[in-house]
Amino acid sequence: GAPDQDDLLAGLNPQQLEAVTYRGPALLIVAGAGSGKTSVLTRRIASLLRGREAWPSQILAITFTNKAAGEMRERVVDLVGDAARGMWISTFHSACVRILRREADHFGFTKSFTIYDSGDSRALIKRLVKEHEADAYGLTPAATQSRISKLKNELSDAESFARQANMSDPAERKFVEIFSDYQRQLRKANAFDFDDLIGQTVFLFRAFPKVADTYRRRFRHILVDEYQDTNHAQYSLIHELTRPVSGDGPDPYASNGMMIFEPSHSDATASELEGASLTVVGDSDQSIYAFRGADIRNISEFERDFPGARVVLLEQNYRSTQNILSAANAVIGNNFDRKDKKLWSDRGAGDKIVGFTGYSQHDEAQFVADEVEALRRSGMPYSEMAVFYRTNSQSRALEEIFIRSAVPYKIMGGTKFYERAEIKDAMAYLIAVANPADEMSVRRILNKPRRGIGDVTETAIARFAEDHGISFREALSVPGQLGVGPKIQAGIGQLDAVLKEATEILLPASGEVPPSTSVADGLSLLLAKSGYLDALRASRDPQDEARVENLDELVAVTRDFARNNPDGTIVDFLTEVALVADADDLDDESGSVSMMTMHTAKGLEYDAVFVTGVEEDLIPHRISAGEPGGPQEERRLFYVGITRARKRLHLSLAMTRAQFGEVSVAMPSRFLQEIPGDLVDWRQSPGDVNSRGGMQSRALNARRGGGSGSGGFGSGGDRFGVKPLAPRDTLKPLSTSMDKFPNKVTGKVRDNGDLELNAGDRIRHSDFGEGRVDAVTGEGAKRIAHVRFEAAGLKKLLIKIAPIEKL
Ligand code: ATP
Ligand code: MG
Repeated sequence: GAPDQDDLLAGLNPQQLEAVTYRGPALLIVAGAGSGKTSVLTRRIASLLRGREAWPSQILAITFTNKAAGEMRERVVDLVGDAARGMWISTFHSACVRILRREADHFGFTKSFTIYDSGDSRALIKRLVKEHEADAYGLTPAATQSRISKLKNELSDAESFARQANMSDPAERKFVEIFSDYQRQLRKANAFDFDDLIGQTVFLFRAFPKVADTYRRRFRHILVDEYQDTNHAQYSLIHELTRPVSGDGPDPYASNGMMIFEPSHSDATASELEGASLTVVGDSDQSIYAFRGADIRNISEFERDFPGARVVLLEQNYRSTQNILSAANAVIGNNFDRKDKKLWSDRGAGDKIVGFTGYSQHDEAQFVADEVEALRRSGMPYSEMAVFYRTNSQSRALEEIFIRSAVPYKIMGGTKFYERAEIKDAMAYLIAVANPADEMSVRRILNKPRRGIGDVTETAIARFAEDHGISFREALSVPGQLGVGPKIQAGIGQLDAVLKEATEILLPASGEVPPSTSVADGLSLLLAKSGYLDALRASRDPQDEARVENLDELVAVTRDFARNNPDGTIVDFLTEVALVADADDLDDESGSVSMMTMHTAKGLEYDAVFVTGVEEDLIPHRISAGEPGGPQEERRLFYVGITRARKRLHLSLAMTRAQFGEVSVAMPSRFLQEIPGDLVDWRQSPGDVNSRGGMQSRALNARRGGGSGSGGFGSGGDRFGVKPLAPRDTLKPLSTSMDKFPNKVTGKVRDNGDLELNAGDRIRHSDFGEGRVDAVTGEGAKRIAHVRFEAAGLKKLLIKIAPIEKL
């Protein structure tokens, strides 16, 4: 490259170099985990800017999370300087919000539209399911929501769906009814749900080619990371943007002469404006969002869609040691229907993978905490460690032990903070001001704090609004006409007054620039004058104290927002909050262990990774069993998890797991078996755990001695590093190989199944010693003994498999 590109290109391997420097209409970079796809994309942007081939404003880069976008932006700024800040590097959702905020008035929305997150749309759909009495047809809010979402991801709307649905089926008719009512309600509320952000942008581009042309002229280079996880709507958006400038169709600007963008900086004339150049990078082995409509075919058919596209393959992994990589290659090799790619690393073999099986999830969590501390003592910062799990609910056991062991941690994703009721209330207050058409938000705060406004009044307000052709919010301004009692009138009047007062702060008359602290001021005013804070403070519920703290935190968020966005308006703030996506965390303290689901982990890397709950029914998850391609998608997810690790990988599981108040027996994940045994050092194998009970270890050791027979986990005896704990020949082999692990289905193995236990019985436990049974709860295989041990205190034991004997 040019001399001033040397530092950009330094250290790249030949394939990476080509990916950075190739110039042409379409480039596809496919490669396994950690091979530098994201890095190459970043450098490619920097190289375009350095070589003055593009202005920052002509670049649109799409990442999977806002966090990834921020990191990429910082990296490019490091490489080419502050001018690059103006680039659009964002998620699909953020990019579409920006477009819609500029263009929404072309099709009947206003620029201050609200964004419904999935909780908001769930609430709306719930109401509609009730109003349409759809539960009689077996429609649940959850299923309806996910079906609507799926259809929207395929760019299907209620009408087009109705055309090909079986409308003689009454349940289908109900569904269509709710789907179209849902869209009507969104429109009425001046709101888009998450899927609409993308789908409606595509719709906008197709309906108004002139609008689309503005963006086609602007974005000359479009780059997409994690392309394997784009769904049809996102794919179509990219297609729309990379089309040549069309120059026909209605001109929505003609009427008001509005100019959206600064004139293009390039010298290109209209005749030169063929489609933008498109670069996509992806790894079909890491496609993990099929449930959201992601379609791997978007990768495999790229060459068909973009004839003449250059394809670059990257094969060297720069992230992980060879042991970790070999495990990853071995696991993903079990998926059929994939192109085999062999990743290699020159980082050396590295440490072995560490395996651990706990008796319970607490045991497992303790192992993780101990190991984290050991790594910390050896000099690894907490921020370089991450703990993954398949489902959010698994974090609780880990959190408890982390708190007790004083391990600092943060939970990524789950948008926990913004899901809290008090935060949603506060946001609803802000939305009621910013977008009064959003009836749902206004309804939410009607009686928060208590103003004596119940369902009857709410209905009266709605009816009044309808009868008079005004909005729900406007009806609040005339409490005297609603036909409600004086006390309630006063309550409504008070709410109306607070909202009006806040409007003056948050949305000053046009021409006036609101002070940068307006959002913080407006929020503080709303919380104070509505009486919301007072009500919490007056409460004696300790939970309410925490709620006040959370609201303080929200005010702090708005102050931060003001600092970072001196011109930021209430609408900007609401946008930012609505887009806080899974992997995005509010405060990014560096000194803590990150905890997240494997889905959230995509694209990230850490020195040490703990993949927990490596059990059947968790990974692969139970719900995947019936889905076509389900287990394969789960394998990709596991592959994503283990390929996040640079130096240390830990795989752990528990023999029993309490979930939803039930204790069940867990079985090691089939994926463990797919990892060559010599790569794993089992600190505590399933065998060790069993040994506490005696009987199971006998079964295991017997098989080691006696030969296992029928494959499955039987052959895993050595794999799991089971150490003989008793002379083999004293043991009697037990039946099938699967018996080695207690199996939820067959319930075989250490079968205490018919062990009679009653309150008052005395027992001995191999770890806890002697104790007395307080109570026995549950049925059959799930019977639990509540035992008070002399030394260990009260414990709950799953009678079926607990290493106990009756005295
Ligand atoms: P994933 O599939 O997980 O998203 P990826 O292909 O995007 O991975 P990157 O995250 O870009 O991979 O790179 C993985 C690691 O390898 C990063 O730490 C990156 O800095 C490093 N890396 C990439 N290319 C090189 C190189 N040529 N020399 C040294 N390190 C590199
Ligand atoms: Mg990446």
